[in-house]
Amino acid sequence: MDDRLTALKRRLGELADLGHALALANWDQQTMMPPRGAQARSESIATLTRISHELFVGAETGRLIDGAERELRDADPDSDDSRLVQLVRRRWEKARRVPPELASDLARAASIAQEAWVGARERSDFASFAPYLETNLKLARRYVECHLGQPEFECAYDVLLDDYEPRMPTAQLARLFAQLRDQLVSMLGALPRDGAVDEWPLHARFAVEGQRRLVREVVSMMGFDDSSWRLDDTVHPFATRIGVGDVRITTRWDEDYFPMALYGAMHECGHGLYEAGLPAALARLPTGAPESLGMHESQSRLWENMVGRSRAFCEVLAPRIAALAGGRLASLDAEALYRAVNAVRPGFIRVEADEVTYGLHVILRFELEQELIEGRLTVAELPEAWNARVREYLGLEVADDADGVLQDVHWSAGLIGYFPTYALGNLIAGQLWERACDELPGLEDLIAAGDLAPLREWLRERVHRHGAKFTTGELLERELGAPIQVGPFADYLRAKLASVYGPPAGRSF
Ligand code: ZN
Repeated sequence: MDDRLTALKRRLGELADLGHALALANWDQQTMMPPRGAQARSESIATLTRISHELFVGAETGRLIDGAERELRDADPDSDDSRLVQLVRRRWEKARRVPPELASDLARAASIAQEAWVGARERSDFASFAPYLETNLKLARRYVECHLGQPEFECAYDVLLDDYEPRMPTAQLARLFAQLRDQLVSMLGALPRDGAVDEWPLHARFAVEGQRRLVREVVSMMGFDDSSWRLDDTVHPFATRIGVGDVRITTRWDEDYFPMALYGAMHECGHGLYEAGLPAALARLPTGAPESLGMHESQSRLWENMVGRSRAFCEVLAPRIAALAGGRLASLDAEALYRAVNAVRPGFIRVEADEVTYGLHVILRFELEQELIEGRLTVAELPEAWNARVREYLGLEVADDADGVLQDVHWSAGLIGYFPTYALGNLIAGQLWERACDELPGLEDLIAAGDLAPLREWLRERVHRHGAKFTTGELLERELGAPIQVGPFADYLRAKLASVYGPPAGRSF
């Protein structure tokens, strides 16, 4: 008879296979599937999800976990096997606390609310969406109640955040975000008014065929290879891994705004490199798949912003854009490109935000969703609270809810506690970037020459190879000897702002 650990791994391997089939079904739905396939696809996805949920939460999984824990009693608690069983124990307990009726209510309400949200956003009609958001919040509170009382959760928001950023306490996040908010607001206040940077290159015409060649060249430099990656078109870009040796990334195109495709593809390729760099020894195990969305986002943002928008990489991009786009862009040089892609311009829409204002968009969502879940803010008061915060942080007046509180899909989809991981990604990327610059001699020259392999290998060694063995906090302590912090990201931004905007007399970022 097999030992329990082996049997547990076999079951987890089957669950990973089901997960891969789900990932493929989702990828296909968003890239290839003809529109009339939607109904059948949603049924197969629901069935696969239910089967894998039942296989995981069943009592047999619990018996295998018990047995594996006994077998590992004397093992090193940081070994791959011990970490695996700890992680699976924690996920299994959390999943078991949620009654099946609540799990299906959550899924159903999310899909109904998303449809209502699409219409409400089109009409900029918050009132018609409010009852659905009310239901999602009520269900989220019931979900929270299943877990409150566990010593690891001190407040309601801890439970929700934990689904996206495991074991990060809200109190720690709130401290980091308060610091980040103050720094970003002060940087923004020190910037000159609109027009200090000429942004003409961003909106000059660049035919899609040329953009496709540029994007292929750039992602190939990053590590994309045809034997194990695909790049396809989609509406909402994402990256996914179907299994070992099969990473899929997606992007979208606009002939009058090439940064959307280029930086979107670099972002998703950053996510893809993380997935591709996971340890083969942990394939088909939960520890072999990233768990922290903050860490995942750090990889995409490091490549998109710290590399992609660097002065050094603009040396690579500018001549290729000039050659492939022609027309007005034929005269593009690295300095003009660098300034344009780093211009800071407060706007209403999070997904279009620059590196300075992006964090403020995330922080205001984090603050509001905490207030909603704790009952300090009602759904009826939400639009005004949103607009007040946009005024305070970004200095803008929201004219209609489509550009305000209705702009993101997350709350309609029941994803409460997800937003913070976007800004956490920036902070972690700041720390990794600072250390990579210290440890990789001549990194800037390598990037300017288009040699991105040393940075990729450094990230693989420091981050990717650990998979989900450690939490974000543990991984940063082990690899960088420091907790998550704001300083490196803020320093990076200040240096960039000074190089783009100044440093004129009397201004300090
Ligand atoms: Zn991302």
